[in-house]
Amino acid sequence: MNRDWLEKDFYASLGVGEQASVEDIKKAYKGMARDNHPDLNPGDAEAEKKFKEISEAYAVLSDPNKRQEYDQVRAMGAGGFGGFGGQGFRVDDFGDLFGSIGDIFGGFGGQRSTKGQTYQTDLTIAFNEAAMGVETSVGISKEIFCEKCRGNGADKGTALHKCNICNGSGQVASNQGFFSFSQPCNACKGQGSVVDKKCSSCKGYGKKIKNESIKVKIPSGVDTGTVIRLRGQGGEGRSGAPDGDLLVNINVERHRFFKRSGADLLLDVPITFIEAALGTTISVPTLNEDISLKIPPGTPSGKTFRVKGKGITPKGRRTGDFYVKVGIVVPEYTRAAKRELQKFKDKGYEGDSPREYLNE
Ligand SMILES: [Zn+2]
Ligand SMILES: [Zn+2]
Repeated sequence: MNRDWLEKDFYASLGVGEQASVEDIKKAYKGMARDNHPDLNPGDAEAEKKFKEISEAYAVLSDPNKRQEYDQVRAMGAGGFGGFGGQGFRVDDFGDLFGSIGDIFGGFGGQRSTKGQTYQTDLTIAFNEAAMGVETSVGISKEIFCEKCRGNGADKGTALHKCNICNGSGQVASNQGFFSFSQPCNACKGQGSVVDKKCSSCKGYGKKIKNESIKVKIPSGVDTGTVIRLRGQGGEGRSGAPDGDLLVNINVERHRFFKRSGADLLLDVPITFIEAALGTTISVPTLNEDISLKIPPGTPSGKTFRVKGKGITPKGRRTGDFYVKVGIVVPEYTRAAKRELQKFKDKGYEGDSPREYLNE
């Protein structure tokens, strides 16, 4: 909790209500950040101050935990807290903030240090690959800064200056009846800056698309929904700032027979009623070997056998178990076999009807 928060009205700073959604807060911030960004307002102390204020407000209100904490501080009012220490928002939290929104400033200046963008991609792998781990690769298209103009889009030796149509904001207002809309500026294509002569390599865009195949080492035991973070494999950082990360969202295909529950491996197997009645030993597959499973005489349909330690071994955790559930099936018997079974029944070997209890 931060004592400073008492004197600050972050909602007012961003011009949003206390019930504003995260989307609204983001939108308000983006607009104001563009208007007040120091790179776009060099030497303007007022803008710099405003920019700091809205950035702090945004850092708090866009983070659900910080926002809740802040709302509590507000609710307590000025009298409420002698004893709290000075944790909470610190100025170095700005580092993260710039990383995540770096893109909105991308167009102007070109030399400001911003962490690279975070990219995401989906990767579908086979059931066995997820269970045992696998080394594979993902293809992504990422934006990198043009090496010729170092991202500012201006040809060598030519100048880059603020667009005077939109005054560097990249947005122009257009009025229609009672309403006023903000639209990307046509003159600078929303970049806020114009160049005298466009870089010949990137046609003035400042960035290029690069297709890359990136190696991914999938640890054993991942499942659908697992996200693997590959540090530094995302968008290129600007001016020496670190590259962004690549998040790989794992999707696991279904298996023909196996299912899983966390680290446990599940399998349904059929046995005949004679195997169930007399008992037997059957061979069942696991992920990497066949094992023998003893079926005791008189095994009922639906019984599940647990084989310890034959499940999946998620990286760094204990190995799960293998659960084999038997289901009794009746084969297509020959006429001769049926005659033998009829004799068996006629001798009264089946005993009482299994439905006896229904008559009680
Ligand atoms: Zn270029
Ligand atoms: Zn413009």
